[in-house]
Amino acid sequence: MKQGLLIIISGPSGAGKGTIYNAVLERMPNIKKSISVTTRSPRPHEQEGVHYYFKTVEQYQQMIADGEFLETASVYSNHYGTPKAAVYETLKKGNDVMFEIDINGARQIKKKYANCVSIYIMTPTFEILEQRLRDRNTETEDSIKRRLGSAKSELSQYSLFDYIVFNDDVETSVKKVINIIEAEKCRIKNNESQIQELLK
Ligand code: 5GP
Repeated sequence: MKQGLLIIISGPSGAGKGTIYNAVLERMPNIKKSISVTTRSPRPHEQEGVHYYFKTVEQYQQMIADGEFLETASVYSNHYGTPKAAVYETLKKGNDVMFEIDINGARQIKKKYANCVSIYIMTPTFEILEQRLRDRNTETEDSIKRRLGSAKSELSQYSLFDYIVFNDDVETSVKKVINIIEAEKCRIKNNESQIQELLK
């Protein structure tokens, strides 16, 4: 059976990766969303099991001890992790799964899976990133500085990613991500079982 593709969307906060991720999922309904576990508190609009599974630090640590995660990372003093079971289930059925995770999570998944594509979403300049963080009105001056600092150090690890999309305009960026996914699904290495079937 054709193996599902793992699609990683990553990028600094403020680059628009969440918006792009949700828009791509909406337009490519066959791709399954990976729902992460987090120890941070839910934001007002967030629902359990839709945006995240919200856990206490103790519950999260128990999940680590039980080997339930495909990858885990700490981002801005909160813990995040991708539960293994749902991903395995999706891939077993031959479906694709998409993750919106940080760079450390991306590194861990890339190590484990060969049939994976990683896309980094970045603003065209750091000035635009700073402006977007300021426009959110949710960050303190300290937090803006910290986020810009980590954005720079993340970008210097660019070779970890297969693609970069400079998010100047959301609609254009969404189309680019969709095109990348479509192209990856046509790769010979992702279609070998079907080709072998044809050759029988
Ligand atoms: P937020 O708290 O704003 O939803 O997410 C903060 C950061 O955590 C984002 O960069 C997001 O991509 C990352 N993140 C969310 N879920 C996971 C996960 O399961 N694993 C990893 N490694 N990072 C995650």
